[in-house]
Amino acid sequence: MFGLKTDWSLDVLPRYFTLEDYEGGEARWCPGCGDHAVLAAVQRICRDEQLAPEKTVCVSGIGCSSRFPHYMKTYGFHGLHGRALPVACGIKARRPDLTVWVATGDGDCCSIGAGHWIHAIRYNMDMVVMLFDNNIYGLTKKQTSPTSQPGLSTNTHPRGAWLPPLNPTSATLGFTNASFVAQTADWNPAHLHATLDAAYKHKGLSFVRIMQRCPQYTAKVFESAQQDPSLVLLLNHENGIQIDPAVERIFPNQLTHDPADLPEALRIANREDVIPIGLFFHDPNRPIYESFTTEGMAMTVEEKMDALDRELNRFAI
Ligand code: SF4
Repeated sequence: MFGLKTDWSLDVLPRYFTLEDYEGGEARWCPGCGDHAVLAAVQRICRDEQLAPEKTVCVSGIGCSSRFPHYMKTYGFHGLHGRALPVACGIKARRPDLTVWVATGDGDCCSIGAGHWIHAIRYNMDMVVMLFDNNIYGLTKKQTSPTSQPGLSTNTHPRGAWLPPLNPTSATLGFTNASFVAQTADWNPAHLHATLDAAYKHKGLSFVRIMQRCPQYTAKVFESAQQDPSLVLLLNHENGIQIDPAVERIFPNQLTHDPADLPEALRIANREDVIPIGLFFHDPNRPIYESFTTEGMAMTVEEKMDALDRELNRFAI
């Protein structure tokens, strides 16, 4: 015979992944859009951590930033508007071995997806949630979003948005079981990368609000903070985000903040005189939902059938 093979399992050869192994389709965001910087940071982390592309999933809802999965050569799920988080939670519930990145925007997460946002934070499943906050609905061409500044002229409020904006960071800090809440800015690649890296290393749901420039529709929103670093407040602490001292020196305003201090995190998040960036809150000991949903997953079929029989037999008369 021809050497009949009965074991068809594939041997996975040791591989080294380069940046190219994570580069999907050519990004079609506008030139100068902050989304490009986030994509580059995530691809670098995947390469540095040698995350196997077939064990990595990018999940998104709808919006400019939600095109993220198309530009990563990993598994991806470009979902429905506001529904990135339940999809991501479903993936983690049955495949805790996968690394999950969620890309969601201020419209996607804080408006139509707000209910899922609250409960995903409470479920605290191990994933990185990146809120691309550009203060506008960009994909649908400039409608007021929950984080639009009052007075911003949009297609839904041509005379200027009326209401005070929702603050996604202070809101998340107030949700039950939040375990990692950080804020960063796309125009500082070193801080952006360090924040996403710390978020990836946290076991539980890491919520990272990224101040994201949209030169197309909200060009002025972060312009002054980008040009004048004194308008940014850098949070530092030995348990916070670690960045190169040369990058730290860019920021004249710094505050030592212990990320274990939730009331102080809330107070800082609500400051309007500066844009605080850094790790607001971290508690690595909060319960993680997939530790319950995956119980018994390693059982054999026979063990599962026995367990089922035992349960059903409890009702035998
Ligand atoms: Fe980026 Fe704004 Fe262009 Fe969308 S409209 S791709 S957010 S610059």
